[in-house]
Amino acid sequence: MRLANFQWDGERRLGVVEHDHIIDLSSSALPPNTVDLIGQWDRVQVNHAVTQGTRRQLDEARLLAPLVLRKDVIAVGRNYRDHAREFSDSGFDASEKQMIPDHPVIFSKATSSVIGPDDPIVLANDPTNTTDYEGEMAVVMGRPARNVSRGDALDHVFGWTIVNDVTARDLQKKHVQWFVGKSPDTFCPMGPWITTIDELPDIRASWMRTTVNGELRQEAPIEALIFDVESLIVTLSEVMTLEPGDVIATGTGKGVGIGFDPPRYLATGDVVEVSIDGIGTLRNPVI
Ligand code: MG
Repeated sequence: MRLANFQWDGERRLGVVEHDHIIDLSSSALPPNTVDLIGQWDRVQVNHAVTQGTRRQLDEARLLAPLVLRKDVIAVGRNYRDHAREFSDSGFDASEKQMIPDHPVIFSKATSSVIGPDDPIVLANDPTNTTDYEGEMAVVMGRPARNVSRGDALDHVFGWTIVNDVTARDLQKKHVQWFVGKSPDTFCPMGPWITTIDELPDIRASWMRTTVNGELRQEAPIEALIFDVESLIVTLSEVMTLEPGDVIATGTGKGVGIGFDPPRYLATGDVVEVSIDGIGTLRNPVI
């Protein structure tokens, strides 16, 4: 199932995407927002609601980020070897102690940075003009997770989405802690929807690709993650309760703008597309 949020009659609505249609669930008995729905997933009749919902043409609906987060996006840095190497070679990480980390490098992005598919990434929000893209697979948590074992970790996953971990590189460097450079408004495109784990049980078999104006910049298999989904959930749930609707962006592959010499940062008029097999394509213009 592909769970989406879309705008209709001026309001945010919950929907399920099937081919070129979106089924409007707003008149069903389901909780009206995605995070509550995920929290009650085992107890509600989603399939029934889908059969009763109004079908609308997908291209007539404006998709939004698939959920309204209640906690900052949890994100993982340097989680692909090739990218860790290019990033290290760029000399940009002021906090780096070793190229390939022994433990996951985990930071957060402000909820206020989240935008939906086709929403513009606004370069004016980065005063340093060093805005870069990072295509990433993101985990959407399902059942609450605290102290879960590796073997149980995927039972707590609701599904997968796509995040573009847009970054102001000079801010990332200057402020040492990454929060500021990762959190300008509009710097967390998310979507186009959440593909549930039953529809895509083996995310490791998928590939992630990022294009800028149609030119392929990043191409990485999810199975190349240094710290895989299970390992990230084990690490985080050792210290905190992961809650329904929490989002973990799992890290980017080789080919970010800072990896080029000279760097190829985003510019006005660019279009960035991040695609993951089995999920879809997240497209955002740059203004
Ligand atoms: Mg990233």
